[in-house]
Amino acid sequence: MPRIAFPPPPASDATEALRAEVRDFLRTELADRPPRRRADSWNGFDRDFSRRMGARGWIAMTWPKRYGGHERGALERYVVLEEMLAAGAPVAAHWIADRQSGPLLLRNGTEEQRATILPRIASGDCTFCIGMSEPDSGSDLAAVRTRAVPVEGGWLVNGTKLWTTYAHEAQYMILFCRTDGGTEDRQGGTSQLLVDLSTPGITIRPVLDLSGAHHFNEVVFEDVVLPADALIGRRGDGWNQVMSELAFERSGPERFLSSMALLTELVRALGPEPSGHAAIAVGRLVGHLIVLRRLSRSVAGMLDKGENPTLQASLVKDLGALFEQEIPEIARQLVEAEPDLDSTREFSAVLAHTVMNAPAFSLRGGTREILRGIIARGLGLR
Ligand SMILES: Cc1cc2nc3c(=O)[nH]c(=O)nc-3n(C[C@H](O)[C@H](O)[C@H](O)COP(=O)(O)OP(=O)(O)OC[C@H]3O[C@@H](n4cnc5c(N)ncnc54)[C@H](O)[C@@H]3O)c2cc1C
Repeated sequence: MPRIAFPPPPASDATEALRAEVRDFLRTELADRPPRRRADSWNGFDRDFSRRMGARGWIAMTWPKRYGGHERGALERYVVLEEMLAAGAPVAAHWIADRQSGPLLLRNGTEEQRATILPRIASGDCTFCIGMSEPDSGSDLAAVRTRAVPVEGGWLVNGTKLWTTYAHEAQYMILFCRTDGGTEDRQGGTSQLLVDLSTPGITIRPVLDLSGAHHFNEVVFEDVVLPADALIGRRGDGWNQVMSELAFERSGPERFLSSMALLTELVRALGPEPSGHAAIAVGRLVGHLIVLRRLSRSVAGMLDKGENPTLQASLVKDLGALFEQEIPEIARQLVEAEPDLDSTREFSAVLAHTVMNAPAFSLRGGTREILRGIIARGLGLR
């Protein structure tokens, strides 16, 4: 059976000064943020916080300076991300744009798209959402039915997107849609379009999650007219573009740090002298965390070198989701407490929040079965 290589990540001594700087910033910024809010992880939305991140140069860190970026290394960016996630900072206003929409525009966008939009992302002013999933096309993305028809001077768009995270706060969506052929053509005939969400004909409706919170939405396009230059990359090349976007979406530390606030509260609740049983359980979790971090940093190093770590990213996301989902299971066995979102006991509130969000960890960004299919194919098993 072929082995999956995770090359050693590049040395990171140079990043330790940056880490100290980020921790310092977060200590002040998050001084009043309670654990229950920190548990929102990368779903916490605060535009002003994102702007302050932008002012520090911690968004668009690896992008060219001419587009508002800072030309720093992928591992420096990694340090900023993991510190933000470990502390439970509210990064959602810039997260998707920094992680995948901006890099997609850098790679495939027109010069006009890059020059006008990337600096706004870098300053924390611009939020993007991902328009991939539809009511009948989630895992099977090639079954996409939203259609953009070329008309004089642009595109006429009709269709519905679902589970669109923060569409209600975003200025732009990267829309994955069909521009040619029919669903029988599968990947062929798909394209990506840049959508200004203030365009007439777009309706954004909330979809509440298990805890009653509003993060994602249904986005309906009814005879929406987009300009001809909304096309990103090449017409009909949407599938290849979206696949490389997913490698960025699946490999970062957000794929194993979503339950960090609960792990922190668990250690706090167990106190300085946990039982032997509890110490072993927490030690095992921390051991897994360290291994996941090593694997994920290796993927960051590969992305930095321009390699294509799709297989490694799928493995990190699958193992990461297992880890994130295991934390609430172990926490509720080790500490006697009722999960209760409104509890004044921090552990109970964070536990309730994580229990209700954990099922989504192995759905968002690609389900467990889909990732395991990619891994099996990479190993030559199917
Ligand atoms: C919190 C959250 C945020 C999200 N944000 C966004 C977003 O911003 N933008 C966006 O476009 N989407 C978003 N999604 C949607 C997400 O990408 C989809 O939910 C996911 O791709 C699964 O699609 P589906 O829900 O249609 O399930 P389905 O594809 O219908 O799958 C249902 C079940 O069948 C299994 N299954 C499907 N096909 C196969 C197969 N071939 N082999 C084996 N098993 C299979 C799946 O693993 C799953 O268990 C979000 C989802 C969540 C939970």
